[in-house]
Amino acid sequence: YFQPQILVGSIHEVIGFEALIRWIDADEGIISPINFIPLAEESGLIVPLGEWILREAMNQIKEWETDPLKMKWRISVNISFKQFEKETFTDSLILLIHEYGIDPSKLRLELTESILFKNTNESLQKIQIIKSLGFSLSIDDFGTGYSSLSYLKQLPINELKIDQSFIRDLIIDPNDYIIVETIISIGRKFNLEVIAEGVETQEQLDQLISMGCQFFQGYLFGKPFR
Ligand code: C2E
Ligand code: CA
Ligand code: CA
Repeated sequence: YFQPQILVGSIHEVIGFEALIRWIDADEGIISPINFIPLAEESGLIVPLGEWILREAMNQIKEWETDPLKMKWRISVNISFKQFEKETFTDSLILLIHEYGIDPSKLRLELTESILFKNTNESLQKIQIIKSLGFSLSIDDFGTGYSSLSYLKQLPINELKIDQSFIRDLIIDPNDYIIVETIISIGRKFNLEVIAEGVETQEQLDQLISMGCQFFQGYLFGKPFR
């Protein structure tokens, strides 16, 4: 499934989508990734599954490239720690870029803070390789993990993604307001794009715009669709 990501300026512009996996079962209907990604991680199936997700994203980008209206769209893909930590992860990325021949900067890999926090040196090296291959990088759920600010100066990242838990009560909870304001300010100072996820109301959007946020994702703009 794909959920639109929007740049709000003088006009609202779709700049890309986040890929969000679903399992469609004949009896159970749609099964949430929250319920099966942890199992895929435990069993190791996350590796082939993660590769399939990257392939689907690359296929989609290739298809969009033939349409002048869509040729600039990018896709954000969630990368699980188990997938990232595999020794073969960067090699599989190299093979995929060659196979699909797409511009890797159109793929934005979303890594969580827990990935960045574990075995820092090894992860750091891996992230630098991924970046040098041309992929774009986002820190997902920013602010919910360890948020060691030192990695912001070490890592070649493009984007901070403000977790929806801070957006939900942004209007009514002064603590969330302060956290969001701080994340936007960190992003600006480190020259990173900042995207807010889980934006559901116009009020939240107006507030975020007035705080200097430019990129948005949430039900206000569109639910994940197939
Ligand atoms: P996430 O990366 O934080 O993704 C955001 C979640 O918020 C998605 O849930 C999305 O459908 C939901 N969402 C988007 N806009 C709104 C909104 O306005 N309001 C509310 N209440 N929710 C909104 P989803 O699709 O159920 O995914 C849950 C989590 O599962 C994701 O959290 C991510 O950690 C994981 N996941 C999803 N797809 C993949 C995947 O392809 N690979 C891996 N490794 N993990 C995935
Ligand atoms: Ca995500
Ligand atoms: Ca999140």
